[in-house]
Amino acid sequence: MERATARLWREGRRWVIQIDIDGARYTERDYADIADACHAITQILRQRGERPTDLDEDSCELCDEPLDMLACSQCGVDGFVRTCGHGGPRPIRVLEDALYCWTCRP
Ligand SMILES: [Zn+2]
Ligand SMILES: [Zn+2]
Repeated sequence: MERATARLWREGRRWVIQIDIDGARYTERDYADIADACHAITQILRQRGERPTDLDEDSCELCDEPLDMLACSQCGVDGFVRTCGHGGPRPIRVLEDALYCWTCRP
């Protein structure tokens, strides 16, 4: 995360938050009070800021199969992973019907 801005305003009885992170915009309009709205901003920034990118694979040079976003079912980290069979082992992959990242793999 290089840059983030957060805005907060009221629409009728609800608080709206809008967060721009590295050019991506998130808007939520659900907050009954300002404390909840601020808490949500903190949470979103923390999630985005801590998201590791070392589990992201580059798109495949050998075929056009898309990347798929997978989340480890043990610790919840996510990453963009190739769906084709090219290249090395996937950083997040299915083992016995659950998804595992490098760290959680048994
Ligand atoms: Zn491929
Ligand atoms: Zn994991």
